Amino acid sequence: MSKPKVYVTRIIPEPGLEILKKYVDIELHESKEWPPSREEVLEKIKDKDGLLCLLTDKIDAEVMDAAPNLKVISTYSVGYDHIDIEAATKRGIYVTHTPGVLTDAVAEFTVGLLLAVTRRVLEADRTIRANEWNKPWNPFFLTGPELKGKTLGIIGFGRIGVAVAKKVQGFEMNVIYYDVYRKEDVEKELGVKYVDLETLLKTSDFVSLHVPLMKETYHMIDEKELKMMKPTAYLINTARGAVINTDALIKALEEGWIAGAALDVFEQEPLPPNHPLTKFKNVVLAPHIASATIEARQRMAELAANNLVAVLKGEMPPALVNKDVLKVRPLEKVKMI
Ligand code: NAD
Repeated sequence: MSKPKVYVTRIIPEPGLEILKKYVDIELHESKEWPPSREEVLEKIKDKDGLLCLLTDKIDAEVMDAAPNLKVISTYSVGYDHIDIEAATKRGIYVTHTPGVLTDAVAEFTVGLLLAVTRRVLEADRTIRANEWNKPWNPFFLTGPELKGKTLGIIGFGRIGVAVAKKVQGFEMNVIYYDVYRKEDVEKELGVKYVDLETLLKTSDFVSLHVPLMKETYHMIDEKELKMMKPTAYLINTARGAVINTDALIKALEEGWIAGAALDVFEQEPLPPNHPLTKFKNVVLAPHIASATIEARQRMAELAANNLVAVLKGEMPPALVNKDVLKVRPLEKVKMI
């Protein structure tokens, strides 16, 4: 029996490719850096049973309709806002993602951003490189707020939000959170407090975003919300760019509604070097690298490959996004291996 055909839209770390090679025939877009063009995706997908894609690939109904044999879309990411989930479910296509394996990487980076923006680490570095460290030590040079005793507000208290609350325990901060679900067990375990969104925005010294991007969270942080924040507060975003209205954020920074921001994700990616956000000294920018530990990227490759192979084996994948698909096309109907 011939092996299932799978299109992989980028070179992913070796552990993932090894798993795939055992079970499927791979057609690989041979690039580590560049995604395939839309035309290429539409052409290559035609005869494929599976697709392993990245968050840079827009997988909509048109792509799905170009692939009558497609049974599974496995994304190498936790977020799946680049995939039309409803369209996939309707067509009986399984969608899987890579939650959990990058939680610590993202949480660690969030803490890094918190320290970088408050203690002005990048400004400090630039000061030396620009030969501006040309006066003796003084008590007011590059000062920023201390974390101890301050309030961190976490919006979206899922895997990553909770991990951030755990990581900051040593800083002796007051941690509050807002989510559509309450987690009373975690509240007790970590001594964190549930509050509504308005209270969180009004009382936090640092606000960190960890919600998925969807209809309800699109521009969740807009002018109104930014105006609720303290003028001394900092905003951190490692979730998705469009959770914040960028124009409103620029206005907030220009007019001093907040003290600064640290951003890993943007409405426009890659962010061009002349973007208005690059002009603010009190903004730390990162090119969507919160999950970029060597370990996390390898585990993501393994999980994405295992998800894809499981579906084609007719087995429950470790991380299925669209559970309703089981009713549309049961697992035994997609079994090929
Ligand atoms: P998760 O599903 O475990 O947590 C998300 C939390 O948000 C859940 O608790 C959910 O109840 C809550 N939520 C959903 N809608 C909400 C709303 N309207 N208001 C308040 N809370 C709401 O997901 P996770 O693994 O913690 O990941 C969170 C997000 O982080 C992902 O969806 C992804 O977009 C992003 N992410 C970014 C990177 C990066 O490289 N920057 C890496 C991984 C994940």
